[in-house]
Amino acid sequence: MKKSLSFLPVLFLLMSPFIVSTLPQADTIPTLVDYIFCNGNVITVDDSNTVVQAVAIDDGLIVGLGSTETILEDFATENDTTYDLDGRTIMPGIVDGHSHYMASLFWIGEKYAVYDSQSIALAYGYTSLNEKSIDHGELAWLRSAEQNGTLRLRVNCFLIYNFAWLESDEPVEVGGWEEAIPINDYDRKLRIPGFKIYADGASGNRGFPAVSDPYSQEMMDLWGITNPYGDLYYNQTELDPIVDELHDKGFIVAFHAMGDRATETVLNSIDYALNGSTNSNYRHQLEHNSFIREDLISYALTLDTIHSVRGYFPTYWQEDYEALYSATWLERYVNRYSLPGEGLHSYLETDFGFLHGFDEDDWSRSTNIRPFLHMWGLVTRKAIDENGTIHSPDPWLAEHQITVEQALRMMTIEGAYAVKMEDYIGSLEIGKYADLIVIDDDPLTTNPDNIKDINVTLTMIDGKIEFLWSSHTFPTPYTSGTSRTSSALWMVVISLSTLIVAVNRRKES
Ligand SMILES: [Zn+2]
Repeated sequence: MKKSLSFLPVLFLLMSPFIVSTLPQADTIPTLVDYIFCNGNVITVDDSNTVVQAVAIDDGLIVGLGSTETILEDFATENDTTYDLDGRTIMPGIVDGHSHYMASLFWIGEKYAVYDSQSIALAYGYTSLNEKSIDHGELAWLRSAEQNGTLRLRVNCFLIYNFAWLESDEPVEVGGWEEAIPINDYDRKLRIPGFKIYADGASGNRGFPAVSDPYSQEMMDLWGITNPYGDLYYNQTELDPIVDELHDKGFIVAFHAMGDRATETVLNSIDYALNGSTNSNYRHQLEHNSFIREDLISYALTLDTIHSVRGYFPTYWQEDYEALYSATWLERYVNRYSLPGEGLHSYLETDFGFLHGFDEDDWSRSTNIRPFLHMWGLVTRKAIDENGTIHSPDPWLAEHQITVEQALRMMTIEGAYAVKMEDYIGSLEIGKYADLIVIDDDPLTTNPDNIKDINVTLTMIDGKIEFLWSSHTFPTPYTSGTSRTSSALWMVVISLSTLIVAVNRRKES
């Protein structure tokens, strides 16, 4: 099943010199567990943002949290799996609240080994992906992966209700979902919590975000916009019954909504479906929130809707926006960053997919796979252009700065909340799944400018080590093991990139 990436034996080799003595005290009988990580900096992301030193893991679950001393008193491991973190940081695994990772893998190569193809996400610290638009073919592929036991990440599918474009001004709906039911089993890797509806355009042949103040003539000429108010895929009368039906069937509805006119229509439809009940029971959510008005933020607060926020803003384009947008538009454009501060549930969207290409060295791409580049973007609003130059935000773009604590929640527990998994993943608490990562710097205490360079050195899902970057994790004399692990990972990266280049060439021709 798994050939090239056998990390576990390497792990044992590397760890053995660092085993901490776990001999029990004379008067206590410690409980035997699978893993102990101690002498570290464990950021739990619980309600009080507790930080502890050690964590014990057994049978896929977190069974102990506390000081190194108490954890080693209470627990022991049989197989030399008590690891000395030597001050390194552990945090919950990254939950991408808006991803196209798995769906795009299906398209770049159906026969590509699903097991290995998840290695890139694992190496960046993802443990859970909320896939925002899954079609029939992708779902069948994911289902077989789950059945074969080759699904390593948690994948939450939002089934695609309509395509992201219009034909003759009409939305193109995807039929055949009549038999679909929500799959919310917390113990399954593959879940179907909801549907994705495209409510407005984005750019080019998708049409443009539906706005309440018209695009200027200059914008229309520059971008080829034909409708000055953008493109709303469904009017209120059309959208209300669609949302109501999905809501009644128990699905979460996630909406692509970029323009404020789309956001308003979507909020009205959610309001209609909720009919006075609270969204905390349903979790309907809005993607992108690119132009959001103040009054719509107030409306969202009354509905308790959930919102995605892209972490990495292309700040190096800010002069272009300043030249084109009025002050009102700039304000609406940056309002998305105010959402977590306003008390709205907000999760990180990377919007990453392989179909847009994947260049490991590209730090400029806004839909970047690097989670800590997104975190750096959220807390500094800085960005790196294609030449490697770092750009700082102008005052309008620096508004609504997010704290590291808020960004941490957006990348973990909020993404879990968006798929009703917050009681099982998203924070490190006793009884939750051991979905965690070891990283080589502490985002809470490091200089914010260093956050983008944080590396993931170990990824664990369900109490199973799925990724280990040996050369960074625990430097050891076993250098031969180091190069073996790294080259195995890079082989996957290189072969995937080659595949993507080949696919893109085919598409262009
Ligand atoms: Zn997307």
